[in-house]
Amino acid sequence: MDIKTLNIAVIGAGIGGLAAACAFALRGARVTVHEQAAAITEVGAGLQISPNGFAVLRGLGLGGAVEKVGGRAGTVALHDYRKGPVLRLDLKRLDSRDYWFLHRADLIDLLHRGVNDTGVTIEVNTRITDPGALTADLVIGADGLHSVLRPRLNGTLAPFFTRQVAWRALVPHDGTRTDEARVYMAPRRHLVSYPVRGGELLNLVAVEERSAWAEESWSAEGDPDDLRARFSDFGAAVQGKLKRIRKVGKWGLFRHPVAPVWADGRYALLGDAAHPTLPFMAQGASLALEDAWVLAAATAEAPDLDAALAAYQARRIGRATRVVDAASGNAWKYHISSKPLRFAAHAALRLGGAVAPERMMRQFDWIYGHDVTAGETL
Ligand SMILES: Cc1cc2nc3c(=O)[nH]c(=O)nc-3n(C[C@H](O)[C@H](O)[C@H](O)COP(=O)(O)OP(=O)(O)OC[C@H]3O[C@@H](n4cnc5c(N)ncnc54)[C@H](O)[C@@H]3O)c2cc1C
Repeated sequence: MDIKTLNIAVIGAGIGGLAAACAFALRGARVTVHEQAAAITEVGAGLQISPNGFAVLRGLGLGGAVEKVGGRAGTVALHDYRKGPVLRLDLKRLDSRDYWFLHRADLIDLLHRGVNDTGVTIEVNTRITDPGALTADLVIGADGLHSVLRPRLNGTLAPFFTRQVAWRALVPHDGTRTDEARVYMAPRRHLVSYPVRGGELLNLVAVEERSAWAEESWSAEGDPDDLRARFSDFGAAVQGKLKRIRKVGKWGLFRHPVAPVWADGRYALLGDAAHPTLPFMAQGASLALEDAWVLAAATAEAPDLDAALAAYQARRIGRATRVVDAASGNAWKYHISSKPLRFAAHAALRLGGAVAPERMMRQFDWIYGHDVTAGETL
């Protein structure tokens, strides 16, 4: 259909919303983004963008901007929380594609600049309570976990607590190994660290199992001393990182069903509004980028909006569900409590890594090797 005749309203100027605005505007649509916050900003945290997410940024003409502010991941190292290294995978040797470490604020900033360059209108301080009141031809709900559009299409989909709590912090980095992500594995807990801003900062995400949690929020303030106490049995390398925390966010991890209905009439969902995912595959942002690209492409290719939205949901729901399921199944692997089992698992990892690191990488090729743009640049 002729996308240039369409007025598009996007609810939410997060990663998915800005990417969708850019993708539609670059194809000629008139786009307005409505954001509840007073400014287009992001929390201070890191983010990993895998090749499938980077393909979309490149397709939107933002590959060069990512290269300027992001760091290429070089290695992934798995550590026992006390005994040290278990396995180190050399990403640069094993995979010609690029995996990126970014500051979330830098990603939002470069998407925002991309959107500004394409003539999109952004209205901040605009909290949408009734998507039906927006008069656009297509209303895109990119409004995250607490979407106002999702219940309109799906009714209430109740999440459940996964018995896991996550903490995240940015600390000054000591500058060593500025391209390495590390996972420290312990009984019922793990901690991930990776550098951002060229090694100036280190992003920490710590996850622990717990029996109860009151509310679902991504931005509750935590107590750094509480975190240090809960991870006090980790080795010196981790203590050195925890010591540097001044401010920490904390949130309960809830599992949400993937929305069964992503699109209806003149409404479409994308990103966390459609499929909130646990952080264990680091795919939430990359999936939102993929959705944004596919929604715009399907709209340009289909004869009418009904066909476009049907094609969009058909192309996305299976993949998103598979990735969400993979993320849900991943945490326990790091948290093995029984000593013999942990020993066996770490030995198997060492063996797997020593014998066939390529095979270990290839097991997630279906995630990272997926390029929704097929190399196209808008
Ligand atoms: C600790 C942590 C680490 C993560 N690490 C990674 C990672 O390494 N790699 C990765 O790919 N993903 C990661 N993710 C997931 C990723 O951040 C999210 O999946 C992604 O941000 C979702 O983008 P989105 O645009 O759908 O939603 P959001 O980023 O939540 O954006 C929604 C936007 O909508 C606005 N909004 C909401 N309601 C309204 C309304 N009613 N009216 C107007 N505006 C509204 C909000 O203010 C916000 O700006 C991580 C998540 C967390 C919590």
